[in-house]
Amino acid sequence: MEVDWSKLIPKPRSSFLVVQCNECGHRQTVFDHAKIEVFCNVCGALLAKPKGGKAEILGKVVDRYG
Ligand SMILES: [Zn+2]
Repeated sequence: MEVDWSKLIPKPRSSFLVVQCNECGHRQTVFDHAKIEVFCNVCGALLAKPKGGKAEILGKVVDRYG
């Protein structure tokens, strides 16, 4: 999937995490300051939930950008 990072990064201090789903192993990119719950695109498991600033990551963080 092609991603235009310049359009997705709202703040310089924010970063993106590559989170691996605990349920199915799918990896997807999650904004570390997500304001909404983030679900796995494959199985629908909750990967991250907002927690007053930084999101709480429920999957396994395997990589980070920014
Ligand atoms: Zn999954």
